[in-house]
Parts: sequence; structure tokens; C-alpha cells
Amino acid sequence: MAASGRPDLVPPGAGRPTATLEGLLEALPASAVLFGADGHAVAVNRLGRGCFVIDERAPLPSQPMAVVLQLFGTPALDAAQAAARGASPETCTIPNGRTGRMTEVRAVAFGKDLVLVTAVDVGDRDAERQRLARAERERRGLLALIPGAVRLVGLAGHIDSANDEAMAEHAEGPPADVRALWERDAPYDLVHHRPLGLLDVPAMRALAGQIVRGQRLEVRRRSGRRVVEAYAAPVTNDSGQVLGAVLIDVDVTESERLVEERSRALLATHEEQVRERRLSAVGQLAAGVMHDVNNALNPIMAAAYLLRHHAESPAAVRDYADRIRKAAEIGAATASRVGRFIRQEPVHAGGDEEVDVSVLADEVLDLTEPMRLRRSSETGEVRIVRSFAEAARMRGIPGEIREALLNLVQNAIDAMPDGGTLTVRTAREGTDACIAVRDTGVGMSAEVRDRAFEPFFTTKGSKGSGLGLAEVYGIVRRHRGTATISSVPGHGTEITLRFPAVSSPAAVQVAPEPAPQAPRRILVVEDHEDGREFLRRILEGDGHTVDAVGSCQGARDRLGASAEAPYDLLLTDVGLPDGSGWDLVREAKAAHPRLRIGVITGWEPMAGAEKVREAEFVLRKPLRAAELKAHIATGPSLASPSHA
Ligand code: ADP
Ligand code: MG
Repeated sequence: MAASGRPDLVPPGAGRPTATLEGLLEALPASAVLFGADGHAVAVNRLGRGCFVIDERAPLPSQPMAVVLQLFGTPALDAAQAAARGASPETCTIPNGRTGRMTEVRAVAFGKDLVLVTAVDVGDRDAERQRLARAERERRGLLALIPGAVRLVGLAGHIDSANDEAMAEHAEGPPADVRALWERDAPYDLVHHRPLGLLDVPAMRALAGQIVRGQRLEVRRRSGRRVVEAYAAPVTNDSGQVLGAVLIDVDVTESERLVEERSRALLATHEEQVRERRLSAVGQLAAGVMHDVNNALNPIMAAAYLLRHHAESPAAVRDYADRIRKAAEIGAATASRVGRFIRQEPVHAGGDEEVDVSVLADEVLDLTEPMRLRRSSETGEVRIVRSFAEAARMRGIPGEIREALLNLVQNAIDAMPDGGTLTVRTAREGTDACIAVRDTGVGMSAEVRDRAFEPFFTTKGSKGSGLGLAEVYGIVRRHRGTATISSVPGHGTEITLRFPAVSSPAAVQVAPEPAPQAPRRILVVEDHEDGREFLRRILEGDGHTVDAVGSCQGARDRLGASAEAPYDLLLTDVGLPDGSGWDLVREAKAAHPRLRIGVITGWEPMAGAEKVREAEFVLRKPLRAAELKAHIATGPSLASPSHA
């Protein structure tokens, strides 16, 4: 340095710069131009020649600052002049007037005489900056748009940023880190039904590299407990290292409530539909019942008429009596079917007896004869083939088996609108007694076959109830049997019922008359006059002494006055004008512990099993005299000493 303090790199009077200076300028990684105190260029490096406006034909010191910097306009010139006045270094970023690329122009003063102006192309850096700014705006847009609370978490668990929803979630203010978030939320895992530990929260799992999708949690929030679906994913660098995590909570409390409400509404509609279907099914059932009852009454009427006219022939009388009994059985089975469907109760298991399925099948075919004839006269003829085996016997309730067969025969006739052949076959196969009903009708598709036993499944539209096969199934199950369908669409169907067979071909048992019995004192309680009188006659016919009353009060009076000659047996109806027969049963039992009690009811034994146990036996109407006699004869020893 010279004593004047002026750098000796440039000779006084702005002559040529020294070689050192030129070397230094060339070493700069920027376009550089050096101005002297008079504002003229004194040196420029190679990069500068391509960047500033330099007139190569004129000497450098004759080129003024304003011209040299002209490509960068006033800001660059201002910066250079400010530097020349001794101000601190100035930088401005402006587009290069020729290339349009962003350039950082910097002016630095050296002492009082020199100003160095450098220009660096920052076009790429600027593009990158703009891209980042744009990405940041997009990120903000996304955070604002996402319908949930969004948080960005750093590797140490610090919450670096959060959207407005996340910021507003907690009454205590936004949590600073994952632990604080966990403490405020007190999350409860709704799937595994337990509080969620800190290490298991979605944020921690994401920081451990996992992705969490829609974990259902209950959390504590400003407005109380809320249900959220939590999402979390790790944020990684290029080599897959976790740098942080993104968390999203979506509050689903409201939508859950909506879904719940909607499904409740749907369920209600569904129930309504089911109810309607059932009602219409019950209507159809009633129509079918009317038909069946009329069919049952028909032979009774006819037999009653014939009885009046042929009463002199004992054989004829017995024949009519048998026919009346059978017809009444059918009517009873029908009534019992309705009762069960209305109340949906299982049939009671009592009253089973040994039955010959061939006899039953025969009876059912007789019974359906009118139906077959009508069908044959209307459309094609339906021929009947009976193929009955001898030893096909089982134990069961004859009325029910008849009912099942009736349903099968009806279906078979329905399936043959143009006529065909109906074959009813009975057989003893191994330990089974079998009945098969076959038709040559329309057959069933696989889908119909699969669903045929379902209650209410019908392909007959309003003409079907869909209860027939369902009932067959129930009856078969109650008899510990099976029902199978084999069917070929277009060719016909065979439905086979199998029951455990009874091996002993027991003595023919058409109408088993129990052994004669010792006479007893019996109190009958029945409000229907005919029923009461017939019952009295049946019992008196066997030599019993019978008192018959029509009300609970009547019964109480008789029982109260019976100290002298106690009754052996109380036989009571259930529905009485002044109370329930069951109340009478309870009272009588308490007052007369040794009195035997039998109940006769027109209802299915719907009373709880408990009530039923209070009576020694429960019989259904229509009353089968043989059944009643059997009960009276086989009961435990009687109360009155004379019969003990
Ligand atoms: P419903 O007779 O009232 O329709 P079912 O329960 O008796 O009700 O029968 C259910 C369905 O099974 C019938 O609608 C019919 O589609 C089919 N089905 C039953 N029996 C036969 C048969 N013998 N041949 C063809 N299809 C039958
Ligand atoms: Mg049917």
C-alpha cells in the first residue's frame, strides 16, 4: 500500500490496472468490473465482458459506469454510486436486460477510488425459491382444505405446524409435542376397548416408520369426548430415513350418529316389511284354514246326516263315527297350525302314539281327493299312484304327520298345472320309516330348492304363503326325522320324509279302548254347554260320578262342599267366564293336595311350562275320549280312600 492509502493496484490517474489486480478479478467466480473514482471502468474480467456492456473497440477507462451497467438498469447504477460515496456494500437482485435471467448485482467500494461491481446469475436459485414458495402455498392450501386436524411432527416429536382445525381442538391451547397431544386427547382405542399408551398413538407409530390408516379412537376435545379416525404416515428423506410424520384426525362423531340413525330407520322399515309380509301370510293362512276346516266339516256333516238315517246298523254307525273322528282330527291339526303360527310357539310333545305312515298317507290322499278332482277337471288329469309298505311304523303325533303330508300333496298338485302323476310311497328302510311324495311337475331350480324350507318363501305370489314346507320341516324335526328334496327342473320333484321307525309291529291299534276303570268322583268345569254335557256323558258312560259346572265360582262352591265325598279328579277348561282355569288349578291344589287335576284347553299349551306342571295332564281340544280315558285310568293312586 502507498502512503496515501490508495491501493497501488491501479496507477494514479486511472491508468491500466496492475497484473495483480487483473489476476484477482479473473479469480472471482462472478462477472466483475472495477470503476475508478471518476466513474469510468478501469478493469473487467472475462466473465464481465459477457455480462456487462463493454465497447471492445474503445479504451476501457473511457467507458462510463452508466453505460457499462445499463443492462441492469437504475438499481445497479444506484448501488454502484452509493458504494462510490462510501456506503456499505449494496446488493440487488434484478433481471439481466439481455438474458432476462435473475442476477445478483453487488457493489463494494475499495477505499475512495475504486468500486467493484460483481454480477452472479441466480436464475436457477430463484426458480428454486419460487418453486419452494409455491409448494409452501400449496401445502397451506391443503392444510386448510383437509377436512380434519393436520399436524406435522418433527423427529423428536415436536409439532412443527398444524392447521386451523388442529389449533382449535383443545381448550388448553395447541399442544407443543406428541406427548402433550396424547395427554390432552387421552385417547381410547375403540376397537380393542382400552386406553391407548403414548407409544401406541398414531404419531409415535408413524415416527417408528409405520403407516396408520383410520384408527378409531375416542379423544377428549374442547367439546367433550369425540370419535375420530386417526391417520399418520412417516416423512422420510431420499434414503428412507424418517425425518418426521404427518398426522390427520378426522372427527367422525356426527357421521357415526347419522349412520346409526339411518340404519335404525332402515331397520324399522325392514321390520315393517317383515310385519306386513307376516300379516299377509297370516291372511293367506287364514284363507287356507277356512278351506281346510270346511273340508274337515264336510264329512262330519255328511256323517251326521247319515247317522240319523242309518242309526239301526251298528257297523254303519261305527264307520261314520270313525270318519267323523278323522275329519275332526284334520280340523284340529289345522287349528293347531294357526295357533302355532300366530304365537310362534313350538308344539307340545305329548300325545304321541304309534302310527303307521301308510295308513296316514292313505287318509291324506283320500282327504285331498276333491282337490285332485277339481284340478283334473279344470286342467290336466292328476293320476295318483299309491305304493305302500307294510311295516313303516313310527311314534308321533298323527295329526302333525297328516298335516305334513297334506302340505306335500298340495305342493305336488300345485306343481302340476297341466296334470301328471302323483306318487306317494311309504317304505321301511333300515331303521327308518319313510314317506316320499313325488310329482311329475315343474320341478325346482337350485335356488328354490335351497330356500324351499324357509318360512314365507314362496314362488306362488299371493297364492302361496310360503309356510307349507317350513311347517313340514318343523314337524319332521320334532319327530327327530329328516326331510330331503330331490328335484329336476321341468321333470318333477320328490320330497322324502324319514323318521325313526318302531320295530315292533304292534297289535293293530285303530281305536285303542283302554281297559275298564274303577268308578271315580269327577268335577267337570266347562262353560260350553255342549262340551260339558258330552264330557259328562262320556265319563258317566264309564261309570264315573260326575258333577259339571260352568264357572270358577261354581267349581269353588262344589269343592268347598266336598268334605263328605271328596272328588278324585278335577277336569277344568282354561277360558272360563269368571277367570282362568289355571287359577282354579292353583287354588284347588293348595286346598286339596290329593286331588288329581287335568286341564282341557282350546289353546295350544301356551302357558309356561311351570303352569303346565301344576296339572297332572293337559289335553287339547278337540278332546279325544280315548286319550282322556287313558289318563284317568293310568294316573297315580287316587285321593279318596275308596279308590286307594
Ligand atoms: P307355498 O306352497 O305357499 O308356496 P311352501 O313352503 O309349501 O309354500 O313351498 C315353498 C316353495 O317351494 C313353493 O312356492 C315352490 O316354489 C316350491 N315347491 C314346494 N313344493 C314343490 C314341488 N312339489 N314342486 C315344485 N316346487 C315346489
Ligand atoms: Mg305349499
